[in-house]
Amino acid sequence: MSKVFVLDTKKRPLTPTHPARARQLLHKGKAAVYRRYPFTIILKREVINADKQPLRLKIDPGSKTTGLAILNDRTGEVLWAAELQHRGQKIKSALDSRRSIRRSRRNRKTRYRKPRFNNRKRPEGWLPPSLMSRVYNLETWVARLRRYCPITAISMELSKFDTQKITNPEISGIEYQQGELVGCEVREYLLEKFGRKCVYCGVENVQLEIEHIIPLKRDGSNRVSNLTIACRLCNLKKGNKTAEEFGYPEVQTKAKKTLKDAAFLNATRWEIYRRLQATDLPIEVGTGGRTKYNRIQLSLPKTHWLDATCVGESTPKILKIEGVQPLSIIAAGRGSRQMRRVDKFGFPRTKAKCFKRILGFQTGDIVKAVVPNGKNIGAYIGRVSIRTSGSFNLKTENGTIQGINYQYCQMLQRADGYNYEEGGTALP
Ligand SMILES: [Zn+2]
Repeated sequence: MSKVFVLDTKKRPLTPTHPARARQLLHKGKAAVYRRYPFTIILKREVINADKQPLRLKIDPGSKTTGLAILNDRTGEVLWAAELQHRGQKIKSALDSRRSIRRSRRNRKTRYRKPRFNNRKRPEGWLPPSLMSRVYNLETWVARLRRYCPITAISMELSKFDTQKITNPEISGIEYQQGELVGCEVREYLLEKFGRKCVYCGVENVQLEIEHIIPLKRDGSNRVSNLTIACRLCNLKKGNKTAEEFGYPEVQTKAKKTLKDAAFLNATRWEIYRRLQATDLPIEVGTGGRTKYNRIQLSLPKTHWLDATCVGESTPKILKIEGVQPLSIIAAGRGSRQMRRVDKFGFPRTKAKCFKRILGFQTGDIVKAVVPNGKNIGAYIGRVSIRTSGSFNLKTENGTIQGINYQYCQMLQRADGYNYEEGGTALP
């Protein structure tokens, strides 16, 4: 069951509670709603000796969606889960459009903006803004969750595979002796190395198999340097031939090369890791191979939030995930810095914007509007778009309602750069 976050009257986070208990507290007037997303209540009393549970925040950073989960290490219960959608492509297209507008302005005779293109140096460890936004999103959410929930440790998936575990077969532990975990790590390594497609026919998005370049029957080894990935069909067609005989000598040379340093494969994850270290919480790192192994052991389907619950060695043998509804968090930005819209020639089309906040409201605030009369009569909950006239638009689940007077609006939650939807990918 997804739990409800609880704060005491001094805004200190307490162990999350069952929704039924939260409802009871709200009903009796012992607590009030503090935030709608993620749902948090605030008690009307101070709690001095709160019980301490080992709560672990687990993160599976992805390029489009990041999985988040809060687990109780002692009981294996998943208390809360979310899927955070990043806005990488939107940032890139906004920057591209700005660049082209500036360029066209320079090329006109009305030039007023000096060309600036080769006078900047990128600082060390620079990442493109679209990637950096993922780092910032995670930083924001780790900080937020820590404000609402007494998190004591963090686990994150840092790399896809563990090079050491692949190359060093003498590793202790039952999973290693059975060879299953190594299998997962090797698979991830090979997928990364050969670009997640069949090396022979190049087919993508199909079940890929680990394939021996020199077949085992012809004294090929099980070493990683003799392995590649291929689709079922190519694997069968190749049969007892070596890759060279099959007509692909380049596969043989590529397999011999090692993936130099896995660390540089995913600069974004390392930047996230570096920033999480500043949180003074113990951080456990896991590999993608380990995540997959855990997920298979627990026989869970592949979703972002379930991947997050399976990150790292600390994953409990038994997970309690019944009734967990992940919150879907969509990064939306906080408006643009562009002062006015331009037409296709790059000339100003609208008036310069001047107010971010009108009559106490800002575009993106979640409000409840109760309209007593007129054609919009009724009660709505949604996000407002502000107008200087005080007559707002409201974006609700069932479409946009235009012309709602600010006086009918009651603030539920201020715009915080994210949109929310309840119940993302639930369990089947
Ligand atoms: Zn193939």
